Amino acid sequence: MIEITFLGAGGGRFVTITQVRSTGGFFIKASKNIFVDPGPGALVRMIRYKLDPRKIDVLFISHRHTDHCNDAEVIVEGMTYGVTKKRGTLIGSRSVVYGDEDHTPALSKYHLEALEEVHAPNPGDRFRLGNEEMIITPSQHSDPTTIGFRLKTSLGDISYIADTEYFPELVSWHDGSRVLIASVTRPRDMKIPYHLSTDDIVYMLKAMKQRPEVLVMTHLGMKMHFAGPYKEAQYIQNVTGVKTYVAKEGFRVTIDKEIKVKTLRPARFV
Ligand SMILES: [Zn+2]
Repeated sequence: MIEITFLGAGGGRFVTITQVRSTGGFFIKASKNIFVDPGPGALVRMIRYKLDPRKIDVLFISHRHTDHCNDAEVIVEGMTYGVTKKRGTLIGSRSVVYGDEDHTPALSKYHLEALEEVHAPNPGDRFRLGNEEMIITPSQHSDPTTIGFRLKTSLGDISYIADTEYFPELVSWHDGSRVLIASVTRPRDMKIPYHLSTDDIVYMLKAMKQRPEVLVMTHLGMKMHFAGPYKEAQYIQNVTGVKTYVAKEGFRVTIDKEIKVKTLRPARFV
């Protein structure tokens, strides 16, 4: 059984600074625990949903934009038991690990050195993570080093399409995945450069030989928020036949023979 727990599904500057939808990425519990794109609030929401940052084995960060990497350092502090134990693996874009012309690296030298392994891979590179294998996939985003992944598991593949605009090769990299998590920032008829819209997702799904069993929409921008993501999800489902969900804080997908979803209740705080 594999569990994916979302800590939020907000994306873009305006949703992030207003928190009309939570940001924070998602946690995959497979034979290793993989945390993906720790945006603002990731640590706090992990605790709220009883996920222990000390149990994260692999931190994956698609690119060096704040809504994806803000909590990276504090998550590494969790992974390394407060930097007392060299532990864990970071798989991040080149901009995350080395910085780019606009940004310093997403983590200080202190935090990078606390990890056991640090990788800044290229599309096509593969990592053995316990019983699973992660294949790095390409993106076309304003951070040109952005990466996604396809995680091969005994229960089918889980794909993550990080921030990207549509390009034809996206289809072959993710064709046949059982669960597709995609950053669908914009609603129908509201395309912008470097991001996917509802129309792009429909186009991509229609082009696949084997469509996913489940699509989870995440990284919802302000225009998507106002257009109504559940309406967009229903539209995608109607025209492609792919069961489509909208992620949110506490949304959990359980993958076994069947795929089930539920929304967890947050733990109470004192
Ligand atoms: Zn971005």
